[in-house]
Amino acid sequence: MNIPKIFFSFAIVIIVAISSAIFTIMQMQKLSTNTQKMYTHPFQVSNAVSDIQTSIVAMHRNMKDIILTKHSLEMIKIIESIQIQEENVYVNFKLIYKNYLGNKEDIDASFKAFQSWKVIRKEVISLVYEGKVDEATAITKGKGANHIQKLYEQITVLKSYAFNKADEFYTFSIKDNGVDQVIIIFILTLIFSGLVIIYIIFNLLKIAKVNKKQLYLIDQNILMATFGLDKKIINISNALCRVLNQPKKHLINSTNDFFFTTKAQYELFENKIYSSQEYKGEISIKINDEDAWFSIEIFPELNHDFQLSAFTVFLTNINDKKKIEEVSITDTLTGLYNRNYFEMIFEKEVKRSKRDKRPLSMLMLDIDYFKQFNDTYGHQEGDNALKAVSHILSAHTNRSYDYAFRVGGEEFVILSYQKDYEMLEEFTNTIIQEIESLKISHKYNTTSNYLTASAGVMMFGEKHLLNTDDMYKVVDRLLYDAKADGRNTFKGSYMD
Ligand code: GH3
Ligand code: MG
Ligand code: MG
Repeated sequence: MNIPKIFFSFAIVIIVAISSAIFTIMQMQKLSTNTQKMYTHPFQVSNAVSDIQTSIVAMHRNMKDIILTKHSLEMIKIIESIQIQEENVYVNFKLIYKNYLGNKEDIDASFKAFQSWKVIRKEVISLVYEGKVDEATAITKGKGANHIQKLYEQITVLKSYAFNKADEFYTFSIKDNGVDQVIIIFILTLIFSGLVIIYIIFNLLKIAKVNKKQLYLIDQNILMATFGLDKKIINISNALCRVLNQPKKHLINSTNDFFFTTKAQYELFENKIYSSQEYKGEISIKINDEDAWFSIEIFPELNHDFQLSAFTVFLTNINDKKKIEEVSITDTLTGLYNRNYFEMIFEKEVKRSKRDKRPLSMLMLDIDYFKQFNDTYGHQEGDNALKAVSHILSAHTNRSYDYAFRVGGEEFVILSYQKDYEMLEEFTNTIIQEIESLKISHKYNTTSNYLTASAGVMMFGEKHLLNTDDMYKVVDRLLYDAKADGRNTFKGSYMD
């Protein structure tokens, strides 16, 4: 799955969600500011204007009363009332100056008109004091009334501006409340989240498909089986079923006898597995009465408490490799191991004997007067004689640590473990006698009428398991002595 892509998509979803939240908060703030503005501007201004208008009307009425009044005390009272109304108008103008959002010149015009009315009022009051009531009435009804009319109109401009503004704020709040945008952003977020989820599901399905394919390939091509602690097969690949030539249902729940056909093989790995260690090695399995070679790896499976719960076996067919190996270490004429393999095994067995602290016995055998045998009976008969001798050597070396090699034309070596020197002597005597007992005629043999062989043998004790070349020379020397002593015999010794 494309993890960075998914992270990127999620990041976008989160960013969109955060943006929509920020947008909503901003919109709410805007609404709150609008409400505040609506309160401070249109309401305060229109209230103040109404108040001024009321005061003007009252003042105008007072002016009319001044003309009609007969008592000077009453007149003073009316003038005081006019002053109070005038104070009130100034206070309201102050409020308008503070909160009006429109053109300040509008307020200036009304304010000046209000101030200049005072001159007319003064003139009227003076005329009344002088007793010129008719003149005063003419001014109040004419110039005064006109001025008030003008003032009234000007102040109405302020009021209608405030009302318009209130309407504007209201419309703006209703129209631009952001609900549409928030809904759009919410829908977009939903769509995008849906797409991301679809993408993830699609990828998971793809992975599941790939996994299934891989499991199929493993099942068809890898030789593997899992065993429970009771050594019964829990699971086995089809590939391995094919190799074992058994249907899966026969193998499941059966014991592991199919794999470990010899007791030695079984014991070889069992100890390791039951102490939770891995095992690697080679085994041969009998399939249709034929030995097939496999490299084997066994892995223990541990549970949560680190206790062994099962083990899985992996096999690889190494039949071809085994065949090549066999050919490269086998002498074609006799079937014994060849010289190359001798060199390898000699080193190995010397080391092993040293490690196991046990003596290693070496026997070197050479056929007597074999040149004359060939000359007399022909090369083919020579070859047959070599095969017959090899057969005897082979028959005496079938324990797992015993080996017989053809190291030269008619020279052989046996590496073997013998309990003591007497056993080695007996072993050598038996071989020499068995060769003569083949009764292969050899008329130019001076010691017998038949084909014979001579041998040099040595039992190397622990301290003498050193250089293989030196060891070889020691035994070769003994063989030479046996030849010198008349042949069909052996010379041997024990180096403690
Ligand atoms: P000695 O008793 O001293 O060992 O005498 P020998 O004749 O055996 O002496 P030598 O070891 O010199 O002779 C070895 C002969 O073995 C020479 C050769 O003709 C014969 N030979 C070697 N390899 C082969 C083989 O593969 N087939 C046959 N038929 N003969 C072989
Ligand atoms: Mg020889
Ligand atoms: Mg010889």
